[in-house]
Amino acid sequence: MMNFGPDYVRAIAPYQGGKPIAEVAREFGLDEANIVKLASNENPLGIPESSQRAMQQAFAELARYPDSNGFDLKGAISKKFDVPTDWITLGNGSNDILELAARALVQPGQSVVYSQYSFAVYPLATQAVGARAIVVPAKNFGHDLDAMAAAITPDTKLLFVANPNNPPGTIVGGEQIAAFLKQVPSSVVVVLDEAYTEYLPPELRYDALAWVRQYPNLIVSRTFSKAYGLAGLRVGFGIAQPGLTDLLNRIRQPFNVNSLAQAAAVAVLNDDAYLQKSAQLNADGYRQITGAFTQMGIEFVPSYGNFVLFRAGDDEGAGARVNLELLKKGVIVRPVGNYGLPQWLRVSIGLPNENAAFIDALKAILG
Ligand SMILES: *Cc1c(COP(=O)(O)O)cnc(C)c1O
Repeated sequence: MMNFGPDYVRAIAPYQGGKPIAEVAREFGLDEANIVKLASNENPLGIPESSQRAMQQAFAELARYPDSNGFDLKGAISKKFDVPTDWITLGNGSNDILELAARALVQPGQSVVYSQYSFAVYPLATQAVGARAIVVPAKNFGHDLDAMAAAITPDTKLLFVANPNNPPGTIVGGEQIAAFLKQVPSSVVVVLDEAYTEYLPPELRYDALAWVRQYPNLIVSRTFSKAYGLAGLRVGFGIAQPGLTDLLNRIRQPFNVNSLAQAAAVAVLNDDAYLQKSAQLNADGYRQITGAFTQMGIEFVPSYGNFVLFRAGDDEGAGARVNLELLKKGVIVRPVGNYGLPQWLRVSIGLPNENAAFIDALKAILG
């Protein structure tokens, strides 16, 4: 058979997402209404009403292309985060920003540094451009920033840090990141992926945008998919100084963020009540789920995101086995064998009744 494309593309293992509800219903003969999906770190509150209203208004204009410069959305981001609009790159999800960074900055054969047990899109973005991955061993499931700085080689062009990290939910403190940024050579671009930053309690917050002002080699990425509740619309953004931002904008698709997504994102950016409710629901759900883990003697990694990594058992088959049993009971969580964590599963924090359904199912399975 003819082998199309470069070897490095054929070597890519496709991204494994959370199973859709409809698929689980078909496979296991269940009623969709009884299925609980806690697999993709989505916001259990559902789409914000403010965004729904904005989308209804945008509907009438859908025959037209979206605003390729995202004037309103960049304006809203600029105002909320106090950054100039020419520091902002809009993305089709923040995934898009991660990929744009790899495509804009890295050539085949050069290297990209990221941590073991960090986001699955980093290896994908790295491999897609034919780059070499330098995967730095994790420390207590989280980023070992000193080791990451030490792992940089002369051909390293890009480095990814997820804070909080996914799937473990770990964080590194602001002071550690500040010290790390000082160590990274100015020729290496750092992407600080802050997909879950809105969930951090006030005492753990830090000002990443101050670092963007200081470092021309830093991109901070944010998403509307988690705390803002717009995962299905695909919208995120990167903030960097104009030099880097200009590069990313040169290679993005001109209409990478659709009109409904732009309208919805503007609305929710001004909807502080939704964001606060998301954070509160998440904090309560975290206590509910981890309280049950503690009671059941289940090991888990303390998490700062909207999900928890927990140990399903001791053998290599434990994650897959417990995952299957949960699916049979209509509970969808995320297996993390592809992250090298076959004994573990990741559960997203849902509504109180969804968390309870997960806990009940787990109790029934593990006895
Ligand atoms: C969910 C997630 C993202 C965001 O993905 P979107 O493309 O914005 O939906 C980015 N980084 C990490 C670490 C994530 O977990």
